[in-house]
Amino acid sequence: MIIDSHCHFDMMPNPEVYIRQKEIMGDIVIGVTNLPSHFKMGYTQLNGFKHIRLALGLHPLLAAGNKNELLLFKHLIDKTSYIGEIGLDFSREGYATKDDQLAVLSEVLSAIRDKKKIVSVHSRKAEKELLALLCEYEIENVVFHWYSGPIGLIPAILEQGYYFSVNEAMCLSKNGRAIIEKIPRERVLTETDAPYNERTDIRVVLKQLNMTEQDVYNNFKRLLAGLK
Ligand SMILES: [Zn+2]
Repeated sequence: MIIDSHCHFDMMPNPEVYIRQKEIMGDIVIGVTNLPSHFKMGYTQLNGFKHIRLALGLHPLLAAGNKNELLLFKHLIDKTSYIGEIGLDFSREGYATKDDQLAVLSEVLSAIRDKKKIVSVHSRKAEKELLALLCEYEIENVVFHWYSGPIGLIPAILEQGYYFSVNEAMCLSKNGRAIIEKIPRERVLTETDAPYNERTDIRVVLKQLNMTEQDVYNNFKRLLAGLK
């Protein structure tokens, strides 16, 4: 079975068709959300699905304009074991809202710190700052999604026991492949980041990594064990 640990199916034109198809194939899909209100709209619709899960998120690029959603985040926190997409983005797109992002993320992390969750994080151009915050709040079971940061920081991320989710686009870029090379196979998960990302073939990722579906599933099971 294929594992997609970071997918925005709620942003697709027809999520229902997409997840039904994945369910029939037996794939596991974690749908991340960008705002708690999006999670609220979607999570009851997944009742009855065995392999499809919805994560509660508050995307860094939406954090500054949606601080009012923090309360909803806290209300919904026990509805799911999955948190994401959360994190920081200090790229050109996010730099102006840096302080708001840090304030919102700190609240999010303090809300989840004593809960058992699997957490998918966005770290673009803020990898070091994000890692420091995750450590400060002692967050476990973190998955760095589509990591594109410094290669030199990877050992520190691994040291915390964290994972990386890898997509096809990473396998097609030189920098992505250099990053993948530094990640031990037992810390890899697969993802699509669809529909934002267009290169979403997880079989290409498995081939690049020289891993089987079962290998990734074993990693995922180890991560799930952290929820207990
Ligand atoms: Zn994403």
